[in-house]
Amino acid sequence: MLTLDFHPTGRHFLQIPGPSPVPDRILRAMSLPTIDHRGPEFGALGLKVLADIKQIFQTQHPVVIYPASGTGAWEAALTNVLSPGDHVLMYETGHFASLWQKMATRLGLKTEFLGYPGKDEHLPAAAGWRHGVQAPQIEERLRADTQHSIKAVCVVHNETSTGVTSNIAAVRRAIDASRHPALLLVDTISGLASADYRHDEWGVDVTVSGSQKGLMLPPGISFNAVSPKALAASKTAQCPKAFWAWDDIIEMNKTGYWPYTPNTNLLYGLNEACDMLLGQGLDVVFARHQRWGEGVRAAVRAWGLEIQCADPALYSPVLTGVMMPEGVDADAVRKIIYDRFDCSLGTGLGKLKGRMFRIGHLGDCNDLTLLAALSGCEMGLKLAGVKLAGSGVQAAMDHFSSHAAVVPLRKAA
Ligand code: PLP
Repeated sequence: MLTLDFHPTGRHFLQIPGPSPVPDRILRAMSLPTIDHRGPEFGALGLKVLADIKQIFQTQHPVVIYPASGTGAWEAALTNVLSPGDHVLMYETGHFASLWQKMATRLGLKTEFLGYPGKDEHLPAAAGWRHGVQAPQIEERLRADTQHSIKAVCVVHNETSTGVTSNIAAVRRAIDASRHPALLLVDTISGLASADYRHDEWGVDVTVSGSQKGLMLPPGISFNAVSPKALAASKTAQCPKAFWAWDDIIEMNKTGYWPYTPNTNLLYGLNEACDMLLGQGLDVVFARHQRWGEGVRAAVRAWGLEIQCADPALYSPVLTGVMMPEGVDADAVRKIIYDRFDCSLGTGLGKLKGRMFRIGHLGDCNDLTLLAALSGCEMGLKLAGVKLAGSGVQAAMDHFSSHAAVVPLRKAA
C-alpha cells in the first residue's frame, strides 16, 4: 500500500545516518523562487557558496559542486585523475568502501582491496567492518611497489555502514613515509561538517562529499575538493568523462556560474547551511557531534548491547552501529520502532544485513530529540523481546545532564 498520504501527528524521527533532518531555516531558504541561473543574482550566490564550502572542507583550493548524489562525486573523483587500467589501492572498511571499489572496477581500473588482517568471532566474514583503515598496511604495500604502479589510494573517512572512522592523517603519513607518489582520494560523504576533516592539512588530493549528511541539506548535490596535485593529474588522465570533467566547471565557477543548469534551490540551502555552520564555528559543530555520540553510546552500553565499532579511538561522531544479540533480526526490531513510534533507523547494509541497526546523530537534532529517538529504540527493543541490561535512555539522560554542551543554548539568568 502506498502511504504517501499518511501524516501522523508530530515530526517523524529521521534517525538514519543521512539523509539527515533538515533545519527549518534551510527549508525556508530553499523555498525562495528559483532564479535565472545565468542572471546577476545567481553569480553572487555561486561565488558565495563556492567560497564558503572551501572553509567547510578546510581548503584553499577549488571545490567542485555537482547536481548529483554522492555516487556521482565518487565517479568524478576517479575519472578526473585516473586512466583506464590504472592500479588503485582501496581498503575494505564496510559497505561504502566496497561499493566504491566495485565502481572503480566497473570504470576499468585495476583495484586492489586491502582488508583488516585480524579476526572477529562474531563477524567472521566482516571482521574489517569493525575497524578503520590500518595505515601501516598501506605503508607496507606502497613500499613494496617500487615501480610506482599504484596511482591512487582510496579510503572512506566515516564508514556510514558501521559507524567507524579512519585516521586520514595517518594514511597521509603512511604514503609520505613510503615516499610513494600515489594520490590520496578520500570519501567523507557522511563525515563532512560533523566530524573534523582537513583537506589541505591532511594532504588529501580529492575529497568526495555530499549534501544530505552533516550539511543538513536534502540529497542532490555532491562535491570534489581538489588539490593542485590532483588538478595537475587531471590534465593527463584518460578515463572518459564529460559531465564530471573538472576543467570547464572550475573555469566557469570563477565568475560564480556553471556550464550546465545547477541545482539553484539546493544552493540556496547550501548558502544557509554554510552560514549556520561557519557562524557557529566548525570546532563547536564537531564537539556537539562528539557529545551526542557519547550520549548515544552510553545508552547502547547500558542496554548491554555491543557497539559495532571495535576501536574506541575511531567511534564515529555521526552515527552509532548497534549490534543485535545472536538470533535477533535487527530489521524486525527496526520495523517495530518504525511502525509503533514513527522513528526510522539505519538498516544493516551488505554483510551486516539483519545483524545491526544504525542510529544517526547528525543534522537537525538536539539532546531531547536524541533522547526521544533512544526511548523509541528502548521500547522497540523490549517489544521485540531483546533482553536489556538496563535503561539506555536513563544513561543518556545522565550523560547529557552531567556534560554541558560546549556552547550553552541560553545564558543562565
Ligand atoms: N559513501 C558513503 C560513506 C555514504 O554514506 C554514501 C551514502 O550514504 C555514499 C558513499 C553514496 O552516496 P549517495 O547515496 O549520495 O550516492
